[in-house]
Amino acid sequence: MLMPGYYLWTIGCQMNQAESDRLGRLFELWGYSLADKAEDAELVLVNSCVVREHAENKVVNRLHLLRSLKNKNPKLKIALTGCLVGQDISLIKKKFPFVDYIFGPGSMPDWREIPEGFILPLRPPVSANVTIMQGCNNFCTYCVVPYRRGREKSRSIAEIGCEVAELVRRGSREVVLLGQNVDSYGHDLPEKPCLADLLSALHDITGLLRIRFLTSHPKDISQKLIDAMAHLPKVCRSLSLPVQSGDDTILASMRRGYTNQQYRELVERIKTAMPDISLQTDLIVGFPSENEEQFNQSYKLMADIGYDAIHVAAYSPRPQTVAARDMADDVPVIEKKRRLKLIEDLQKETVGKANAALMDTFAEVLVEGLQKNKWQGRTLGGKLVFLESDLPLEGCLVKVKIFKTSPWSLQAKLVNILES
Ligand code: SAM
Ligand code: SF4
Repeated sequence: MLMPGYYLWTIGCQMNQAESDRLGRLFELWGYSLADKAEDAELVLVNSCVVREHAENKVVNRLHLLRSLKNKNPKLKIALTGCLVGQDISLIKKKFPFVDYIFGPGSMPDWREIPEGFILPLRPPVSANVTIMQGCNNFCTYCVVPYRRGREKSRSIAEIGCEVAELVRRGSREVVLLGQNVDSYGHDLPEKPCLADLLSALHDITGLLRIRFLTSHPKDISQKLIDAMAHLPKVCRSLSLPVQSGDDTILASMRRGYTNQQYRELVERIKTAMPDISLQTDLIVGFPSENEEQFNQSYKLMADIGYDAIHVAAYSPRPQTVAARDMADDVPVIEKKRRLKLIEDLQKETVGKANAALMDTFAEVLVEGLQKNKWQGRTLGGKLVFLESDLPLEGCLVKVKIFKTSPWSLQAKLVNILES
């Protein structure tokens, strides 16, 4: 008998991706099979993002496209989750009456029973995303996330430990621990564990080779965490440390809780503990009232720190936020685009140079799978590496020698297999 198809349309952060993976597994348990396109499906899930207006517009367009599909195929059921839904489901139901099922970000569908013991796929990916906490308590003035995902809610170390051990038993070798602000992990739990405690607990799991986590908040990252990272060999030397701006006035009106100088001192401390650390950041250009001089502070900070990746975005006013309510969106679009391009060009140049310096060096790579006939994996610092080999390398930790570099990835030759 032909199984009904399901289709997932996901946009936004890694947390949305992790939630869609999980929902896809649930739909399979319910008897659906993955369809190639929405037109072939009987159930389409839209997992939405509204962090910027552009993303929200894409989601709304997609929902309207699905409505016309549903007019042609009345059997089609549309499900919606993610940050468009937010905490008040009734509002969104009124706005999109043609959507059949609506549930909040990070929660589970409520229109059918969840099979007992449902958590994991039979064959999880080599690098598995694990959500360790939901929500955010920070209320940066530009950000809609706390309004949509609610307050911080951590999972216990025991629960996360069981999930990770089971993922490893089923084939994962790396876990990526996810949360909007992982440095405040555990504050809401009775025993008040911290991220360093969680890392130490997971470190003991046999067969787990690597642990990553994101996103960190510069105002919350503790010395205990830095020390734990430096001393636990399975924890990758990679930190996502969003700065958002290099100017103190802008940082204060973003309500980030640190200054340019404090951020630089933090990076120094991290680099002292781990000279090989790979740093990534997020930056917003064109925040309300940001002038040329203030943008230059951001540019200079980017140039001085030498990140491995900069996720740069033009400011986009978001409903409900303090910035959208109280601050004029006064940087013209054309100027935002110019600043965006300057940062992108800088990143291409600095990452290109940093990667070029890796030419003819050796690296340890965890191979995640095949991509266009080449094995694809990541270094400890998170750099994307491609290598050719006829050996079955999926899930192996290998030593490679780099022979070609670009700002986006590295090409390497296999030296030997360290763990298979
Ligand atoms: N929790 C993380 C942090 O503290 O940076 C990131 C969460 S946020 C969902 C992801 C990124 O989207 C942010 O780092 C920020 O750069 C960007 N972002 C959030 N709100 C934005 C807005 N209103 N306009 C432009 N970019 C925004
Ligand atoms: Fe948004 Fe700030 Fe929370 Fe990150 S820390 S999710 S930017 S409010």
